[in-house]
Amino acid sequence: MNYCKYHPLDGATYSCPQCNIHQCDQCVDDEHKGARCFVCGSVLESLGSGNTVEPFWRRLPEAFKYPLNSASMSLIVITSILSVVATLIPFLFILAIVLYLFAVGSLMKYSFTCLERTAMGEMKAPDVMDAYQGGIKLLLQLVLMTIVLVVVVGVSYHYLGMAFGGLIGFLVALSLPAILIRFAQTENMFEAMNPFAAIALMAAIGLPYGLLIVFMLIMMTSVGVLHEWIGTLFPAMSYLLQAIISNYYTIVMFHLMGYMLFQYQEQLGYSARSDEDDEKSERTDIERMRANIMVHLKEGDYEQVVTLYYQAFKRFPNEASFFEQFFDLLYVCKKTALMEDYGLVYLEFLSRKKRFDKLTSTFKQILFLSPNYLPASASMRVQLARLFKQNGDLKMAVRLLNGMHKQFADFDGLPDAYVLLSEVLAELPGMQLQAEKCRQMSMQLQRKADVKKQELELQRQAKLAAEAKSTTTPNTRRAPPVAKSSGLTLELVPMESVLDITDKSEKA
Ligand SMILES: [Zn+2]
Ligand SMILES: [Zn+2]
Repeated sequence: MNYCKYHPLDGATYSCPQCNIHQCDQCVDDEHKGARCFVCGSVLESLGSGNTVEPFWRRLPEAFKYPLNSASMSLIVITSILSVVATLIPFLFILAIVLYLFAVGSLMKYSFTCLERTAMGEMKAPDVMDAYQGGIKLLLQLVLMTIVLVVVVGVSYHYLGMAFGGLIGFLVALSLPAILIRFAQTENMFEAMNPFAAIALMAAIGLPYGLLIVFMLIMMTSVGVLHEWIGTLFPAMSYLLQAIISNYYTIVMFHLMGYMLFQYQEQLGYSARSDEDDEKSERTDIERMRANIMVHLKEGDYEQVVTLYYQAFKRFPNEASFFEQFFDLLYVCKKTALMEDYGLVYLEFLSRKKRFDKLTSTFKQILFLSPNYLPASASMRVQLARLFKQNGDLKMAVRLLNGMHKQFADFDGLPDAYVLLSEVLAELPGMQLQAEKCRQMSMQLQRKADVKKQELELQRQAKLAAEAKSTTTPNTRRAPPVAKSSGLTLELVPMESVLDITDKSEKA
């Protein structure tokens, strides 16, 4: 039995020929039909659930319960009664034969359906009516196969003598389950009767096949013993009871043969999954993405993990777990450079989700890894500064706001940011002068912004006017661009001094 590379305690259901590894259902990309390897993307070989199913002898109690449902039991009883009635009317020979064949045929057809369904992973007995779909062809083939086998044994008895004939008979009995299993698998009479195929199947299954035969013999003997036991007391009842029990055993045996086919599907060259497995295999895209990340994490392919997380953020922008996990991962693994990139993504996610309670603590965690970190977004910095001010951490607020006019010269909220900065400075001891300077600067910035706004408005009108007289050359449209406020021409307060002062007060 193979185990999943990433879940060493779980049986594998797939294997990757490229990576030469085994995976469980969880650790494969099952987005489309035909699961693929998360690592290399190649199509996986399904091991089916044969690898994970328990051996048939551990399932005996379930196997005996298998026909215990009203539909199967009615069929068992009715076919038993019919076959007993057939033996009781010897005077109508043809009718008796027809009746008997009908009874045996119905049971065989049903049993065979049980075998096939079990082999496909259905662990509940099929509906009786359901079993009779697909016509009489299969039944005729089964009867024909039985006749051929009987003839083979009879002929060898006749021509080769008791000893050799007995051996052939023994071999035929021994390979009967194999022939039936092969027939269910191939639905081809000739392939099923091929003795080499039967031998190959027995070899593939090995010892459990022998167990199945032993088990079959025990059942047959028990029917005989029962007959002896009851037969002496109630001869009339005995036949019916014997028929019912042997019919019941037949279904159990066919179920077990099917189960064997299911269990050894890999060796027998096909794959099926248990319906018990199928129910849990429906995964959401989010779960699949999570499994994908987990596989790469366990592979140690951190580059791919990072790529996948960023894909996840894009595809599932509201799935908090991805954002939180990635943050925790970077924090725990002390990935400073990655954290500097990701910090703002996470902060903006928290802000979008209105998790303001976590914003400041998260920011401090980032600072723990990267002490000089500042978010590359002006509005985030203002938001954080406002929160820190509320929490009374004024120095942090100053740090966030300081120098913003240089870094974010185009930021619309600059005047407000400097109003905020001046308020923060005003609360700090000995900073009244700086606070006043900041207030002045915020007014300057506001004025500048107003001028810019006017300019823009004028330009917009000019453009509209130009468009109205569209006869003019396109050159006129290319009006001189608005002087970008890349470098403020205003006299600015030297903000470095503020930092110096705050640094000093920090040291104090
Ligand atoms: Zn796994
Ligand atoms: Zn692979």
